[in-house]
Amino acid sequence: MKEHPGLANTWIISYLYYKKQHNMTEDEIRNSWIYQTTGEINLHQPGVDIGTQPIRVVHALTIYLYQRTNPEFFNEILSGKGAGDNIDLVVGEEPITIESGGKRTPRVHLNTKKIELHETFLSYLWATIYSIFVLHSETIDYPEINARVGLIRYPISEANIASAKELFAYAKKIIRFFDTWDKETLPNPEVFPAENRHYVRQTCAFYTEAVKFILCHEYTHLRDHSHKYANADVSHFLEFEKEADNNAIDMMKKGITPINQLAVENGIIFGLLSMFFFGANTSGGLTHPNVEDRLINAIERLDLIDNQYPWQLAYVAFKLWDEQFELNLEWKNLPTYQEKFHDIILQIKQRSA
Ligand SMILES: [Zn+2]
Repeated sequence: MKEHPGLANTWIISYLYYKKQHNMTEDEIRNSWIYQTTGEINLHQPGVDIGTQPIRVVHALTIYLYQRTNPEFFNEILSGKGAGDNIDLVVGEEPITIESGGKRTPRVHLNTKKIELHETFLSYLWATIYSIFVLHSETIDYPEINARVGLIRYPISEANIASAKELFAYAKKIIRFFDTWDKETLPNPEVFPAENRHYVRQTCAFYTEAVKFILCHEYTHLRDHSHKYANADVSHFLEFEKEADNNAIDMMKKGITPINQLAVENGIIFGLLSMFFFGANTSGGLTHPNVEDRLINAIERLDLIDNQYPWQLAYVAFKLWDEQFELNLEWKNLPTYQEKFHDIILQIKQRSA
């Protein structure tokens, strides 16, 4: 299995989770998919998984990791004080867009104190992360490593690039029209060849952290803002959003370990990048900050300014976004991805001014 130091250690995360949560013995783990290197891996557990979309196999791990965002948070949930386990997972073969208006995106219900998550939104999130991650690896990361070491350590795969683009097309489609996720032809978290596990499991590592970020954001609204909404005017909503992002990032920073660091940091970035594809305009209106401002705030608050990944991942996402909405952004040949990023942001700002 190819793995390079810039990547999250998904193997250890899977190993620890299965050992603890499924009470598996060393022998059972050794005979499970965790060690499987050839043939098909199928993670579906009939009667256990909720929903019909392939993302169903990741739900339990996602909630498990969310509840353990950091040790303090786990105790807060156990004490019953917070609403940490009040997650309403809505399954159904529906598009993200609601015909009568609005979207099936994550939200809090102030009366029930529940966080609502829709199955199709989660599929969309996984698919966008996979596409951005694989395109980043194949078009930026691997070529740079190969050039640096002076040999083809990571051969570039046109097939991987093509399937990442096909999966991105699927993600865009289910924003407006539901379609079944074809597990035979498209990368997905449920059924995949063991030889391809690297991209699938890395995506799961980023995905679970992206969902964790969303849940921590919504949790903050429930804990800190739910009693204020009724009497607050719109100008306060913007503050609530910034507070929710900042608190979610701080909660997650407290849970960073050497094992999960890259997954946590980049998972938050992926979560924010996935929001660009809902429209050509990044404005959050009166109630939400612009998506690019939320992204820059996250990069700064995570202390990732000198880290190459956020800028590169954003670059890949911006290219996809430019193509999706035919924005005709100008792609200048600047020396670093950080500079390229800021140039694109400047263009976004100039257009919305
Ligand atoms: Zn919010």
